[in-house]
Amino acid sequence: MARAFNFCAGPAALPEEVLFQAQEEIANWKGVGCSVMEMSHRSKEFVSIAEEATQDFRDLLAISDDYEVLFLQGGASSQFSMVPLNLLGDKTSADYVNTGQWSKKAIAEAKRYCDVNVVASSEEQNFSTVPDFGQWNLSKDAAYLHYTPNETIGGVEFDYIPEVDVPLVADYSSSILSEPLDVNKFGLIYAGAQKNIGPAGLTIVVVRKDLLGKAKSFAPAMFDYQVHAKAGSMNNTPPTYAWYLSGLVFKWLKRQGGLKAVAEINQRKAEKLYGYIDASDFYSNPVEPRYRSRMNVPFVLANSDLDAKFLQKADEARLLNLAGHRSVGGMRASIYNAVPERAVDALIEFMKSFEKEYA
Ligand SMILES: *Cc1c(COP(=O)(O)O)cnc(C)c1O
Repeated sequence: MARAFNFCAGPAALPEEVLFQAQEEIANWKGVGCSVMEMSHRSKEFVSIAEEATQDFRDLLAISDDYEVLFLQGGASSQFSMVPLNLLGDKTSADYVNTGQWSKKAIAEAKRYCDVNVVASSEEQNFSTVPDFGQWNLSKDAAYLHYTPNETIGGVEFDYIPEVDVPLVADYSSSILSEPLDVNKFGLIYAGAQKNIGPAGLTIVVVRKDLLGKAKSFAPAMFDYQVHAKAGSMNNTPPTYAWYLSGLVFKWLKRQGGLKAVAEINQRKAEKLYGYIDASDFYSNPVEPRYRSRMNVPFVLANSDLDAKFLQKADEARLLNLAGHRSVGGMRASIYNAVPERAVDALIEFMKSFEKEYA
């Protein structure tokens, strides 16, 4: 059977071209006689793969020499601890914005290490919006401010970068590389790879060099950014295959014309899908239009008794993984970079015909 369209929130769709290239190279990479998976991470072959991937990632986001780019493991969830362990320094508190399930997890973890000042929250609005920046209760002595630019579960995305006096830390797991980004506005950016980068098992951290070297003395070496920076992300065995595959994705993004071109396609995909949902009485999306995510589009059916039917029929139409997160229910279409525009077109056609049949 042909490949289906995959709307999974993560691990998510990968570009088909990349999968076929990996298939071609899997058993014998460039004639060296073994797979990338079987190479020493210290071999000149793997080092060249790693360096090229790192450089391509830097090129895509125009990252300056003031920043280290680290290829780590442990998922974005480990960053919920690594960030406070490394950035608190002598301070005892940090500012956090609460805009959804991922913010909440980051906050809960940070509370192990410091006083967390929740500067703003949209919880009372059921996480359907971004709190107005003018109302944020920023503190003067915070070590940093942490926020989640794109909430993967709620489908809420900031349309601006907060301007604060302390280092800005962002969990970009589900929207990194979806558009150009001014990295210079951040102290630290992190992202688990399995949404918009590559396969699971890799987490990328972009950290301003002057923030390194302040890890708590009790922090495990593997949780110290400085240790990884000094070792070129090879303090221990890095996730070599995920690093290689992500490198193929970076090349693919460059071939698309870079992030500006990719952002235009993403914008078009999201506009089409939200446009159709808004025009229909059968489907709806609860998020304030200004803050709707271009990557994760949650929607509900007017009659939730039809949810199971919708998902079954979608599967039959080869539109996979449209169920909403288990914590919120309903539906969610994740339309990351690797989900082609024709997948969104096919989804809308399916939604139309389902509405016709069941409305
Ligand atoms: C998926 C996700 C996480 C968790 O990522 P893991 O790699 O599973 O730890 C954290 N934050 C955001 C915004 C996410 O989308």
